[in-house]
Amino acid sequence: MYLLIFTQFGFFTLFYLDIQFVAQEEAAVHFNNFKLQLHHQPLRLTNKPLIDFLLQQALSIAAKHHFPVQFHTGYGDPDLDLRLANPLNLRYLLESPQFCSVPIVLLHASYPYMREAGYLASVYPQVYLDFGLAIPFLSVSGMRQAIQQLLELAPTTKLMYSSDAHSIPELYYLGAKWGRQILAEVLEQAIRDSDITVAEAESISVEILRSNALVLYQSAHETSPSL
Ligand SMILES: [Zn+2]
Repeated sequence: MYLLIFTQFGFFTLFYLDIQFVAQEEAAVHFNNFKLQLHHQPLRLTNKPLIDFLLQQALSIAAKHHFPVQFHTGYGDPDLDLRLANPLNLRYLLESPQFCSVPIVLLHASYPYMREAGYLASVYPQVYLDFGLAIPFLSVSGMRQAIQQLLELAPTTKLMYSSDAHSIPELYYLGAKWGRQILAEVLEQAIRDSDITVAEAESISVEILRSNALVLYQSAHETSPSL
């Protein structure tokens, strides 16, 4: 079980990863203003203080039930400001004692901020990385560099494959094909560089393609009471 904070879709639009604390009284003022602006048009929430407050509520629930929370970071949505999608902007959230028990999954390889994402995963115990979307949508050399840069610092137990596929079945196929192929190339290079052994490469590939996600999401599912 996990909470997915959609960043650009539907109701919950998170334009800034620089999330800050917002008191309930302040959020109430913004909520009332937001309601006054509604005239039966499609709902699109862009008010940052209100979004930050709602996110705090979601994170509090996640902390209580040990749910991982996924964040779209880096590229992926046409109307985002890429400067604000750098995961380094999550510092306030990652440093907040009340939320440090919540596993935070950075999606999309945080492209083009892979090194920043890998750094965060190496420093903060609660940060995990997911390279869906970067694979299969980047060029072949771009995919290779994305995985290499994530692995420069990130623990291999915190990196996960996903297809990020949607809309058409071919995306699931392409994600699986390129995910396996690129990971194999990167790990083979790491063997040639003497970073890892063949046996370590095999266990790392199982971790990244399967067991890291199972451990993270299944343990969350098992420890959470039914809602
Ligand atoms: Zn996505």
